[in-house]
Parts: sequence; structure tokens; C-alpha cells
Amino acid sequence: MRKRLIVSAASALSLFLAVPASAADFQPGAAGAGDPYYPTYGNGGYNVSHYDIRLKYQPATDELEGTTTILATATQDLSRFNLDFALNVSEVRVNGRPAAFRTSGEQELEVTPARPLAKGSQATVVVRYKGVPSTVKRYGFTAWLRTPDGGVAAGEPEGAWWWFPSNDHPSDKAAFDVSVLVPDGSQVISNGILTGTSSQAGWTRYSWRENKPQATYLATLAVGKFDITQDTTPSGLPVYNAYSKDLGDNADAARASVERTGELVDWLSGYFGDYPFSSVGGYVPNVPTGYALESQTRVFYSPRQFAKGANTSVVVHELAHQWYGDSVSLSRWSDIWLNEGFARYSQLLWSEHENEGTAQELADYIYASHPADDAFWTVKPGDPGADNQFSGAVYDRGAVAIQALRNTVGDDTFFQILKGWPTERRYGNATIPEFQAYAEKVSGKKLGDLFTTWLFTPAKPAVGPVPAGTAAAAASLAPGLDRADGQLPAEPKSWKKIQETNSLHDAGH
Ligand SMILES: [Zn+2]
Repeated sequence: MRKRLIVSAASALSLFLAVPASAADFQPGAAGAGDPYYPTYGNGGYNVSHYDIRLKYQPATDELEGTTTILATATQDLSRFNLDFALNVSEVRVNGRPAAFRTSGEQELEVTPARPLAKGSQATVVVRYKGVPSTVKRYGFTAWLRTPDGGVAAGEPEGAWWWFPSNDHPSDKAAFDVSVLVPDGSQVISNGILTGTSSQAGWTRYSWRENKPQATYLATLAVGKFDITQDTTPSGLPVYNAYSKDLGDNADAARASVERTGELVDWLSGYFGDYPFSSVGGYVPNVPTGYALESQTRVFYSPRQFAKGANTSVVVHELAHQWYGDSVSLSRWSDIWLNEGFARYSQLLWSEHENEGTAQELADYIYASHPADDAFWTVKPGDPGADNQFSGAVYDRGAVAIQALRNTVGDDTFFQILKGWPTERRYGNATIPEFQAYAEKVSGKKLGDLFTTWLFTPAKPAVGPVPAGTAAAAASLAPGLDRADGQLPAEPKSWKKIQETNSLHDAGH
């Protein structure tokens, strides 16, 4: 008895002594993930493995309330950490204990746990909140879109703040459970698989699960009244598509495009390897926007994309992102070319498949149709700057860069790279230098000059994306092929459809 007392007194003493020492070691996590374009987006000091988002939403008033439970691991000794969020928070708990919290900046939620978090320890963070997301503006906008019958969360790079607290940066991916209670007659669309619905007292709960790592901006939510189609691809992949019931004249063209999702996923698998996720599909809510977003497994489309008839090119673009962007995600937003260059290039491949212009013809056309003094060439696709992150040059010059790579390494090696990269880096994150190193490894060629010329030089390359040693290569060495010289190649048939997807990520802010 006495011995035990001595022991416990000693441990109490050591604990007492340890407090001042360790308190100095426990530091607040950074308020940002270190992104060069968006310094406050994401946070430091922890990694999230799972988001459990449990909401109730009233479509008539846009009132959203709920609880998000975050499973995280501390990557440093943490006295405090930040989440990114915009709605009003009423309670935060960390490992069951009430935590102090306050807001700062545009979207920072600073959480001080009752007990600091040791590096390597796991934390369960519960955040309770509510708000009317369409009325909450950050940096002057809301990414929450109202529809006549509900609301939609779909935005890039911002989208999460209006419906769940998160470590909002693509470098920290996690699995998601999204469960939303809505009035009977409304439906809920989200990522992954619909694991169940249940109704009680006039309300229905929809539960969705995305079990593969997903970036926060790729999480999507829509509440509204939809016509649902469900099917399975020949390879056994479940397809789930949803169309707002009030798409009017755009309804049929939307279906004629999005209903081809399964076919196009199988076609893209031939270039990119096995589809990385356990479901696929798209949804078209009745929003006034013009953009689309490659939300993981469930692409968001605006009705306006189908205003001129069916557009399979946009479906190909967004599905290509499932490999290039969703499965292999950015480590930093400045590498956006890894997403958009390849998604645009997939449209060139689709054009080739449809006999509406080869990738080479389209690349030649893009190269020739922008004179050397066109501002188009001042944007570096490999580092466009936050303001130009989604400029046309990232897409078009970005795709021409990929054609130039193809011509440099040859078709066999090129298609090996195109498929090998998303296979080797599946579910991870990557940078442009890592892609270049991979392409050099596979091809056995030094590609530094090529990447510098096409991705990192704010000027029109002197030589177009032409196969080496051809007459075209010799011709393009002359300063011709500019519109001013009247040598513009004929416009490929697919060009207009490809251009219609140019406002893809223009989120209106
Ligand atoms: Zn895109």
C-alpha cells in the first residue's frame, strides 16, 4: 500500500514536471497547408483519414445543420489546430472532450483541444454547426448553388467550406461517409455508393459512401428532385446518374451525353488503365452556372453544357479526371496542368476516335491559331498563377504540350506513360517534376527542354508540336503557321465541342 502510494506520487511528480517541458513542445498547427497559390487553404499538423458528414437539409429555406466527425492523426505535437469552414459552429469536441474554438480569417476555425495532441496520436473531432450556405460569402462568393428544388455543393478549389469542416487541400485525401436527411420527395446525390435510404415522419435519409481517398473539393452534395438512372457497365461497374426533373429543353441532350458514361469509362480505361473507383456517374442539377466539375465518381454538370445538343467531349473530359486529378491528385494547385492538360488531351483522343480530327491536327490547330503576340502564350501551363489557374492556356497549350511529349517519345512509349502513371500513382498525390521524372524513366530520354519550352516559358515555342524529322517539323522552323501568315490549318470538326467545355471550371468568381 505504502509502496503504491510512493509510486503514484512519483508518477504524479513526473507528470507535473513534464507539463512545462511538453507545453513548450506542443505548438499550434499551421493555418495553411503551404500551398503557393492559396496559403490559407488546408492546414498543418494533422492528416485526415475519414470524414463522417451527417446533415439535415431543408430545400425550401436552404437551412443546413449537422455534425461532421473527422478522424485525424497528429503529425506534430499539437496544442491547437485549424479546420477550414464557413458556417456557424455551436460545438467542437476532440476525443470526447469539449474543445475551445474561434474563427479567424475568411475560413479558419481554430480548435484548441482540452488535452494537446501528441505527434502520431489519433484524434476524433466532432463539429456541430448550422447555416444557410447560399447566404454565406467568403472572398466575396459562395460555392453553394441554389436550385429551384434545393442546393448543390460543387466548386474548385473552394467547395467544402459551405457544408463540412475540413483540411481543405488536395494533399490530404480521406474516405467519406455522407448521410443527409431531407423531406420526403427530395433526393440526395453524393459520391460513391448509395448504401441505404430510410424514411420516417416525412423525412428520408440518404447515406453515401466513397471508400477511396478523395480530395475535399471533389466531395459533392446535391439535394433536389431528380430522375435517376442506374446500370452496370460490361465490366461490372455500377453507374448512377441523376437529372433534375426541370431541365426543360436541355434534358434530352443531357441524357444523350451523360448516359454514355459507362461506355466512355470503358473507352478511357483502354488509355489510362483500370478505372480506380467502385462506382461512376454524373448528375445535372438545374443550376444557372456553365461549368462542370470532376467530383469523384459523380461528375457535376451544368445544364448549359448541353444547350447546343449532346456533348460527349465534356463527359470524356470529366471522366478522364477520375484518373488524372481524382485518383492521382495534386500536391499543390500550381501543378494544375497534371489535371487539366490531360483531361483536355483526352478530348483530343476522343476526337481522333470519332474521326473528327486527330490529336495532331488539333494540336497543330491550337498552335497555329494563337499568334506569337497572343496573351495566350504568356500563361505558363506548368505554373500559371492562381489568377490563371483555369485559363484556356492551361487546357489548350497544356494539351499541345502532351502532343509534343508524344512526338518526342513516340506512340508506344507515350501510351505506356499515359497508362503507367495513373496506375503507379493510384490514390496518391503528385507533382509535375515527379511526372517528368516518370516520363524520363519510361522513355529513357531527357525531357527537361521539352517541359521548359511547353510548360514553363511565357512565350510561343518556336517549333510546333510536330513529329521530329518530318517535313512539318522543317516547315515549322520557319516563323510561319501564324494566323497573320494565312497558314492557319483547317478547323477540326471537333473543335467547337471542345471549346464549349472551356468554361468548365469557371465557377463564376
Ligand atoms: Zn477539367
